[in-house]
Formats: sequence, structure tokens, C-alpha cells
Amino acid sequence: MGSLSVDTSNLQKSSSSATLVCTPVLGTTVNEMLVDMARAKEIGADLVEIRLDYLTNFNPRFHLQTLIKQCPLPTIVTYRPKWEGGRYEGDENRRQDALSLAMELGADYIDVELQVAHEFNSSIHGKKPDNFKVIVSSHNFHDTPSSEAIANLIARIQSTGADIAKIVTTASDITDCARIFQITVHSQIPTIGIALGERGLLSRLLSPKFGGYLTYGALDADTVSAPGQTTVKDLLELYNFRLIKPDTKVYGIIGKPVGHSKSPLLFNAAFKSVGLNAVYMHFLVDDVEKFFNTYSSPDFASGCSCTIPHKEAALKCMDEVDHIAKKIGAINNIVRRPDGKLIAFNTDYIGAVTAIEDGLRALEGAKPAPGSPLSGKLFVVLGAGGAGKSLAYGASQKGARVVVANRTFERAKELANKVGGKSLPLCEVENFHPEEGMVLANTTSVGMKPNMDQTPIPKHALKHYCLVFDAIYTPKDTRLLREAKEAGAAIVYGTEMLIRQGFEQYKNFTGLPAPEELFRQLMEKHA
Ligand code: NAP
Repeated sequence: MGSLSVDTSNLQKSSSSATLVCTPVLGTTVNEMLVDMARAKEIGADLVEIRLDYLTNFNPRFHLQTLIKQCPLPTIVTYRPKWEGGRYEGDENRRQDALSLAMELGADYIDVELQVAHEFNSSIHGKKPDNFKVIVSSHNFHDTPSSEAIANLIARIQSTGADIAKIVTTASDITDCARIFQITVHSQIPTIGIALGERGLLSRLLSPKFGGYLTYGALDADTVSAPGQTTVKDLLELYNFRLIKPDTKVYGIIGKPVGHSKSPLLFNAAFKSVGLNAVYMHFLVDDVEKFFNTYSSPDFASGCSCTIPHKEAALKCMDEVDHIAKKIGAINNIVRRPDGKLIAFNTDYIGAVTAIEDGLRALEGAKPAPGSPLSGKLFVVLGAGGAGKSLAYGASQKGARVVVANRTFERAKELANKVGGKSLPLCEVENFHPEEGMVLANTTSVGMKPNMDQTPIPKHALKHYCLVFDAIYTPKDTRLLREAKEAGAAIVYGTEMLIRQGFEQYKNFTGLPAPEELFRQLMEKHA
């Protein structure tokens, strides 16, 4: 599959038809459906999809009348048979009769499957009310076919006389969404394009960018009707769905897993606060190279954060790497320049080092000395993984004398050599105190949730340190930091590194100062 070079300029000119948000109602009784319809309106959906196949007792004329007349929003009526992934197992004529009846009783849309669409559309020919539309849908629960195969499918759907085409595929890779976007942009009739599954999330969120007719949003996390479906609340509040337009720049966090990341919450709120035409999403990526090769247009993947396990692999896809990030051997922040080139940074070390410097300055009182307070300090780094490298390089760059202590001593030696420091086995750090007033930075995962009773260094050894930093942020208040405080040291939380590296990312993405207060409030609220 080539790169995603989709011309959205026509969409920009005719963006009057905003992508709709549709909430499926999946009650097993009419009353449950009526309650859900009212909630759908309350939470901001534009229309509802009535899934007749979910009803346990269905009396077509009586129930359809109630559901359609009492719905506070426009309706799509769907009666999905088992052979297309639904629940209905009965007679086919009865099913199609119920759909015709829905049309007669005032449904705004009905959704009928491609397999029977010719037959169905002929049966209603000449009877269609004004403004009533037939959605002809095709579902593939195995994969996302080639662009050519999807285009053929659209042509078949169009030949049935469909008003709206609906293509549902299954994403086995995030790049599958690109083929969905090519269809929604280029299709001659309004088209709904969805790739199912967590890897298909983009196809749902970016429908407005690529001209999709509608996207589905669940009432809440317990009532999703298809894999990978998000809630209306997340669509509207987390991802600012209503603000996404064809020319919106797309940012996101690349990782695997990535769904837990709070970064979309922070960046989308920040973009909105200054009116930036940009959206930030979760990118569940298996193959970083394929991701960047596919999403290579300037307004796509305009900037990315990068997390486990791609911090090292992503390096190979970059055109330029900031010199410290190159030394650290890991990147967490990628910016696509207007010429399309990818430039990478490591903002972890800036976040950690500035937080520790501010902690030391606070110790120095009202008149801190000029220059970095880390200069000349003995700086003990516990751990030699990704965070350990950031701290060791960051501190040595500020003139600290670095000592690396790690469980696997070989890794400690390797890192210490690279930063011109000394190394220790982790077990020896307890008795290591050549001087007083040292700085300690824990970057091991010892003490992280769920092992919150653990600590990487005994409490009695902490009295030799003037400041202790812990990279762990779950929990915020680790046993190490509690004991350091009791031993009289100043402490710096891992959350401070996390938030400050976010400030740096925002600056790199936008060229603007980060809305620090907003980031802090959101982190506090959603910790
Ligand atoms: P990593 O690359 O996997 O490195 C893990 C380090 O922890 C290695 O040095 C490893 O030692 C050591 N370690 C693991 N289990 C240990 C144990 N039982 N006893 C002693 N040492 C042990 O992970 P990372 O990305 O550096 O992350 C490390 C921690 O930093 C995590 O808690 C992570 O959440 C946190 N972090 C925080 C931020 C932030 O913004 N605050 C940013 C990045 C990371 P070996 O070499 O012997 O395996």
C-alpha cells in the first residue's frame, strides 16, 4: 500500500455537510430503546440507529410506530441478519417487510445489506418519501481488502441505487484506515467508512477530515455495538470531533499498547484553548516504518509522541535526530517539517533535568547561583534503561558527575562509559557515600504499581542525598520519595518529569509556549 496522498481540497470547499454522530440503540425492549434515544440526544448525538435485531419481542407496526415517532432524533432503522453479523435469524421476507414499513412510518434512513440491496431497492422503487435515504452496507469481519477491491465494492453498492454507501472492514494494522479514507474522499455518493477494531480507531475519529458521512459513537463504554467503537463523550470531549475539518492537522501518540495514554486529553485541550486547527489521537502502531510511509502527507502525523516499544525503532525512520536524542538512542517526540522531513527529539531528559534543577534551586534559597545547580554535583542514577539514559545524559550535559547503578551491571558500565561517569552494581549503592549532598534519580521500575511496597535503596542510605527524584509516576508518592522526605531530602515527583516533557513536546509541535497551568490542572484531575 502506498502513502496516503488524499486530496481533501474539494472537501474544504464544500465542508457544509458536517460528519454526523450516530448512536446505536441496542435495548432488548422498546422502552429501553426509548430511554437510550433520550440519552443519545442529551449527550450530543445527531441521530440514532435503531437495531431491531436486538429486540426480543418485535411487533413491527406497533413498535416501529412508537420508536420512530417518539425518537427525539432522526433515525436509521437497521434489522441486521445473522449472516451479516447481526442477531436476526428469521424469515428474510419478514425482515425486508419490516424495513419497508420503517420507511413508510417515517424513518429517515434504513440500512440494508449489499447482498439483498438490489432486490430491496426494486421493491421500494417509486415509494421512497422525500428526504428518506437508503444506506447500503457491506461488512467484512476478517480484513481490509486492497483499495481496488474496496473501490469495486463501492461501485457495486452504487449500482444498487443506494443513496449512501457504508463499508465496514476489519483493521489488522493502523495503515488499513488509509484505504478507508481514500474511499470516503473519492466516492461519488456519500459514504460511511469504518475499519473495526482498536487499530481502526482513526477511521472513526477522522471521518470529518476525509468526508465520511457519519461515524458511530456509543452511549457509554458498556454499550458499544462494534469492536473499536468509541463513546460519544470521547468523540466530542476527548477528541474534539466537531472541530475536525478536512484541513485539520493530525497529531498523536505512537505506542503499543497506547489506549491508556492521557496525552490526547492534554494536547486536545491545549489545541482547543488556543484555537489551533489540530487534533491529537491514539495511534496503535505495530510497524513504525509502515506507519510513517503510509501517513506521509504534511498534515498527517504532523507531530507524534512516541512511547514503548517504539522509542528506539522509530529512530531509524527519522530524517534528522537531535544530537542528545541520538546519544541517548531513544526518541519520544517527532515533528514533521513543512517539507515532509521527520525530525526527532527526546524531551524526557529535558523534563527530568529541569524539574531536578528547579528542586535544587529551591534548596539554594532566595538567591540561587547562576548556571545549572547540577554542575559539579555527584548524581547517582539508579537504572540504565530508557529513562536511565535520559537522566544520565541530561545530568552529564549540565556538568554533573554521574554514577550509574544498575541491576545488570554490564548495562551500568556501558551507560557510565558513554557519559564519562562511573558505574556500580545496584546492590552496592546502599553503601556508596563518598560525599554528602548527592542527588539521587531512580529510573528503575522498582516501587511502581502494583509493587508499591518496594524501594530500590534502603532508607538509611538516603541521608547522604540532598535531593531524590523518582521517575515512577504510578503511584506519584512512591515509598522511595516518602522515605527520602523522612530522611530530610528534597523530593521531585515523576509526574513533574512527565508533565514537563509534555510542555517540550507541545512547544516542538506548535512553536508556541505550552499552556502549563491547563496541563497541570488536567493532570491533577485525571491522575
Ligand atoms: P526500561 O528501559 O525497561 O528500564 C527498566 C530499568 O529498571 C532497567 O535499568 C532495569 O534493570 C531496572 N529494573 C527493572 N526491574 C528491576 C528490579 N526488579 N530490580 C532492579 N532493577 C530493575 O524502562 P524505562 O522506560 O527506563 O522506565 C523505567 C521507569 O521509569 C518506569 O517506572 C517508567 O514508568 C518510568 N518513566 C517515567 C517517565 C516520566 O515521565 N516520569 C518517563 C519514562 C519512564 P536491568 O537493566 O537489570 O533490567
